Amino acid sequence: MAFAWPEGKRCAVSLSFDDARPSQLDAGVPLFAEYGVHASFYVLPCNVEKRIEDWRAAAAAGHELGNHTMSHPCSGNFAFSRENALEGYTLARMERELLECNRCIETLCGVTPHTFAYPCGQTYVGRGPDTRSYVPLVAKHFLAGRGFPNECANAPAFMDLAQSAGCSFDQLPFDALRKMIETAGGEGGWLVLAGHDIGGEDRHQTVHTDALRALCEFAMHPANGIWMDTVSNVASYIREWQEHER
Ligand SMILES: [Zn+2]
Repeated sequence: MAFAWPEGKRCAVSLSFDDARPSQLDAGVPLFAEYGVHASFYVLPCNVEKRIEDWRAAAAAGHELGNHTMSHPCSGNFAFSRENALEGYTLARMERELLECNRCIETLCGVTPHTFAYPCGQTYVGRGPDTRSYVPLVAKHFLAGRGFPNECANAPAFMDLAQSAGCSFDQLPFDALRKMIETAGGEGGWLVLAGHDIGGEDRHQTVHTDALRALCEFAMHPANGIWMDTVSNVASYIREWQEHER
């Protein structure tokens, strides 16, 4: 049977934001409430601790809290990660960190993360001949793992949920976002957008409030045939179909 989205929708769109930055609570959550949009937040426990009540309220309002590791390890080519570099990691250490992050989010917010976002979109540990992919760990412990920054929507009947493509939408105007959604619509795809801060200024790693507002309005308009939901909810639907139909 061919893959079909629920209720005759043309495509699915998920909004995701990384690192539990304060602007997501201050500018994002109130905007999403206006449009009835549920987003996925890939949080770092060290940032959740600074605003525990607000993150609990976001979860209670239907937003997803996902795992983004404890210490955000990336390549040591990023100066901020030189002392905590993936090149120096092992799979065992990464698995401990993934599980510890889940436990922390459960303790702090009372919800269990079902999906994961790779810090800096990087999926390896080690270096040279000892390099290993940690995608299998993500596949073992999570419904889905979101990459970054990728260039296309996901093909639901084919995709590997452990490597769900995530397209950056930091600094993008609504026109560019609408084109991405139209392309996903034409292919019946799942577009996962990934951003960081949310605000009115043209700053690095910031989703513009105006673009986000226009995007929510467009995606929630029934005539546009878009299923806008969290990564977890869309991934559950895809997994169900892949398990039974593929
Ligand atoms: Zn991050």
